[in-house]
Amino acid sequence: MKPESLQRESPEGKKREPSSRQRMRLSLIILSCILYPVTFAYVSCPLITEAASQGILTAGLIIFGLVFLTSLVLGRFWCAYFCPVGGLQEACNRVLRWPLRTTRADWLKYLVFLGIFGSIAYAIWSAGGLKTVDLLYRTQNGISILAAGGIVLFLGPVMITLLFALILGKRGFCHTFCPIAVMLMIGRKIRNLAGWPALHLKAEKERCNNCNACSKECPMSLDVHAMVKEEKMENAECILCASCADTCPKGAITYGIGKT
Ligand code: SF4
Ligand code: SF4
Ligand code: SF4
Repeated sequence: MKPESLQRESPEGKKREPSSRQRMRLSLIILSCILYPVTFAYVSCPLITEAASQGILTAGLIIFGLVFLTSLVLGRFWCAYFCPVGGLQEACNRVLRWPLRTTRADWLKYLVFLGIFGSIAYAIWSAGGLKTVDLLYRTQNGISILAAGGIVLFLGPVMITLLFALILGKRGFCHTFCPIAVMLMIGRKIRNLAGWPALHLKAEKERCNNCNACSKECPMSLDVHAMVKEEKMENAECILCASCADTCPKGAITYGIGKT
């Protein structure tokens, strides 16, 4: 028997098991969250900036570059399957089950993006470029939390994320504050302009029975039902998790790689 929080409701109100893909997705993202004390130095914007100001290229900056490159084909796949902060929010949501309360402050993440990536660019410029490589910067034997100040550096982002989840609800941090979300949106925009094959959703509105299960299941609280009705599945906030496709009882949403 699955825990209550891992089950979902069918349109008829009966509990349905999550698909194997969604079980795998949740396992991966929760595992990433559990490993966050080990890995946070590799995804920490302040540490990447601090190292860059000394002319040091860290694993974190390389990871950001790679995640951006994946967004050119996979969109925000990172957010759905691998991001530890996304995992922390999904774990919160499984306990609290609070809906997203507002999207009015979503513009804030664009300012945060400009501030963070502007600081990284300025740090590199003021250091005269990146001259050395230290992949394990501010870790002890690769483990983030064991380094000096590790616990303080770890608790900061965790508290901020939890605060957003408590105040704004489901994936509130992703919607409102995350600069990586903007970086991935830019990657997706470039792909959409170029039009090369990429991971995407496709809808057949004739199949839809208006049950609204897809919208209820969406971790980003999108009105997926309306997107299906318009057959317009591209949305900057979509993290391409496939929950909607896996939930739909009519097979009205498909998920795969191809041209849109
Ligand atoms: S939006 Fe940011 S915090 Fe949310 S899952 Fe994506 S990278 Fe992680
Ligand atoms: S629209 Fe579908 S694929 Fe996109 S975030 Fe929502 S559930 Fe996931
Ligand atoms: S797309 Fe599927 S899950 Fe969404 S409202 Fe239509 S039938 Fe229901």
